[in-house]
Amino acid sequence: MPTAVISDIHANAEALRAVLADIDARGIDRIICLGDIIGYGPEPLACVDLVRERCAWSLMGNHDFAVLYEPTNFNAVAQAAAYWTREQFDAEPDEALRAARYDFLGRLRVRVVEPIPTNGGDDTARTALAVHGSPRRPINEYIFPSDATDAPDKMEALFDRIEHLAIVGHTHVPGVFTDEPDFYPPAELGEHRTYKFTPGEKAIVNVGSVGQPRDLDPQASYAILQPDGVEFIRIPYDVHKTADQIQAIPQLDNYLGLRLLEGR
Ligand code: ZN
Repeated sequence: MPTAVISDIHANAEALRAVLADIDARGIDRIICLGDIIGYGPEPLACVDLVRERCAWSLMGNHDFAVLYEPTNFNAVAQAAAYWTREQFDAEPDEALRAARYDFLGRLRVRVVEPIPTNGGDDTARTALAVHGSPRRPINEYIFPSDATDAPDKMEALFDRIEHLAIVGHTHVPGVFTDEPDFYPPAELGEHRTYKFTPGEKAIVNVGSVGQPRDLDPQASYAILQPDGVEFIRIPYDVHKTADQIQAIPQLDNYLGLRLLEGR
């Protein structure tokens, strides 16, 4: 059975609903989330409720951490968004629901070892290490596409911590890092935008961002993990609606909406 992998929703419920509808239309019933459910966007409560309802589990991203505990190394725009987001959770009048949401955020995991779905009868079961950021600093370290050429020592240190595969988010840029090291954006993976696993090879897969893509494609990004590879999916949604919602909330900087229109 395939698994849908979503990440970096950033309180963009319009994008999340479009992605969930696509996952449902494909008949995929297992969804996992790599974190940053909230932060930046206008609908944090709806997004947490959808992830609680629909995902098998979710990781803790740096923005989830910021709302639950304290922003670390955030710029002024991100910090203001984190504090506004916390106010939304605190303002929930239903005490049980408010407690349930905080309990969910508090239980988000830092790393999960995820079995890669098999076709059945495959006795060489493999696993994927799921982290929001990187295998050595799971919540906060970015693995940038440019690291494949500019930071070979960093890439070697990261691959040393991976058995077969790692699945990550955090940069909002989808693609596959190989241990050459090299980086392949989905556009370079052929018409099916699919990366096929090779026995003995290690890879780090970034599934991109549902709610705030930064690869100059405004469409929501997610990935489908299959027994033999990973497929990158883009889904159009009403970007202007989310941008308008952001504009209507003074504590959320207008740039957070404008960047969605361009995917940067
Ligand atoms: Zn993020």
